[in-house]
Amino acid sequence: MSLSYFRKCSYPKKLYIVVITFILGLITPHTMNAQSSNGADNMITVSMQKRVKGDSTVSSYAIVSEIQQWNPKQTAIIICDMWDKHWCKGATARVSEMAPRLNEVLNIARDKGVLIVHAPSDCMNYYKDHPGRKLAQKYYSKKYAKLINNAELPAEKNATWPIDQSDGGCDDMIKCTEGHAWTKEIDALEIKDGDAISDSGAEIAALFDKKGIKNVILTGVHTNMCVIGRTFGLRSMARIGKNVVLMRDMTDAMYNSRKAPQVNHFTGVHLVVDYIEQYVCPTIVSTDFTGKKQFRFQDDKRPVVAFITAEGEYHANQTLPAFAHELMLHEGMNCEFAIGKPAMDGPGRHNLENLQVLQDADLAVFFVRRVALEPQKMDMIKNYIKSGKPVLGIRTASHSFDAKGNVAREGGGITQSGESVSGFLAQWPEFDEEILGGNYQGHYGHLQEKTRIGIVPGMEKHPLLKGVHPNGFGSVSWLYQNRPLRSAATQVLLTGTIPNEPSEPVLWINHTKYNNTVVYTSLGHHDDWKIPDFQQILVNSVHYLLNDSVKKQ
Ligand SMILES: [Zn+2]
Repeated sequence: MSLSYFRKCSYPKKLYIVVITFILGLITPHTMNAQSSNGADNMITVSMQKRVKGDSTVSSYAIVSEIQQWNPKQTAIIICDMWDKHWCKGATARVSEMAPRLNEVLNIARDKGVLIVHAPSDCMNYYKDHPGRKLAQKYYSKKYAKLINNAELPAEKNATWPIDQSDGGCDDMIKCTEGHAWTKEIDALEIKDGDAISDSGAEIAALFDKKGIKNVILTGVHTNMCVIGRTFGLRSMARIGKNVVLMRDMTDAMYNSRKAPQVNHFTGVHLVVDYIEQYVCPTIVSTDFTGKKQFRFQDDKRPVVAFITAEGEYHANQTLPAFAHELMLHEGMNCEFAIGKPAMDGPGRHNLENLQVLQDADLAVFFVRRVALEPQKMDMIKNYIKSGKPVLGIRTASHSFDAKGNVAREGGGITQSGESVSGFLAQWPEFDEEILGGNYQGHYGHLQEKTRIGIVPGMEKHPLLKGVHPNGFGSVSWLYQNRPLRSAATQVLLTGTIPNEPSEPVLWINHTKYNNTVVYTSLGHHDDWKIPDFQQILVNSVHYLLNDSVKKQ
């Protein structure tokens, strides 16, 4: 449905503003896009996820998000190699499965004014008389032909490619024979007036110049080959200075799960996406266009662990990605992030992006500090909790949604609206008591000696403590005060002790009125993540909570 339709209507202005606002409310719960009655009509809000260099004492990179507003007239979507048929049966099936959703994205984008470029490589003969083909051919540029190639970007110089694709990447039980099976783009993707058809970066880049395209979204297959490497691929678009992103749920890789690092096919795709975020360009999800939760292949049965993080004290945007990477590589899990600014204060801090991951999460991990949110976003968190699914809370999670005073909607959060808004952002200070069962009262001072972390007598054989040294361990982080816990349903497993003070609970299990099973630890300082016992407890916790979730189904 096109917004311009409404503008042509003769209804009173006020009425159709209300209608537009209502419809946008229905279709874009994630991004709250900026189509308003004035100013930046029709702009596209994208929530970009990327990996940047982190504090090297913690880990090599940090996950960050960046919100950008794009003019659709300066934006293009390239569809890479979504062929009618691939030599690999599994690859063909996945393209068919993904195509209807991609077509939905294209229709929404096209209606907004985004240029659509169909790039089914090696199939140009099929389209030789198509107006879309002629449109692209008009602008072939020798300058770009020289510039564009599959060479790695300078940023990739010392990077390690994450998967072994040397066998062609067929992941089927019976290996398919490599060959040339394609003749055209898959029919499920509609080619409409104004769309271009090309498999040449030199044509596409010149067409972009002509049309004033600055932002480029790559979709299609295969992430680890053509999407990154074609002359119109991610590297080429980055090299010629386009603001390029990969739509990470509208892609698939050629990866055989029997090859290194011998992980699930979809983890293989994910590892390539992570590589791209770190070295090539940011990524987005189709939610930015559809308002729906992101696309997942039906064969992707991995449990989804959603990491929700925004805090500026403990480098959670570095420790959690490193932990998530381990869970993906060694525990068969799918780990995704909803992230806010890793800052203690400043503009844009009261926000979390990509919260739509909660809609199909099997476990939510909270490491958030004093963040207020747009009410719709807080509702996404509350809806997850009300679903009764499990929660893992880490350290500042006890004061996740307690900003210590009102936060005005203007300026504080990302309202992403041209309208003047009023009132306050939503908070949930009761999260600590109601969900975690905690009683956060602040913390003791920084110590010369370590906090002694000990196992509560009788709990030595608890599954959360499997593999943990019976005498406990030491933590350099300052001890949180949580006595007395405020839920009768808590079971404390670890306590922390410092000289001349009563012991404090530092790891416990809680059960909520919504039937959530909750594990909370007040540990989680970036130095705690270097302690093998602590890492073991967190891996144990994730398994314990996911098993609990399965049992309840
Ligand atoms: Zn195959």
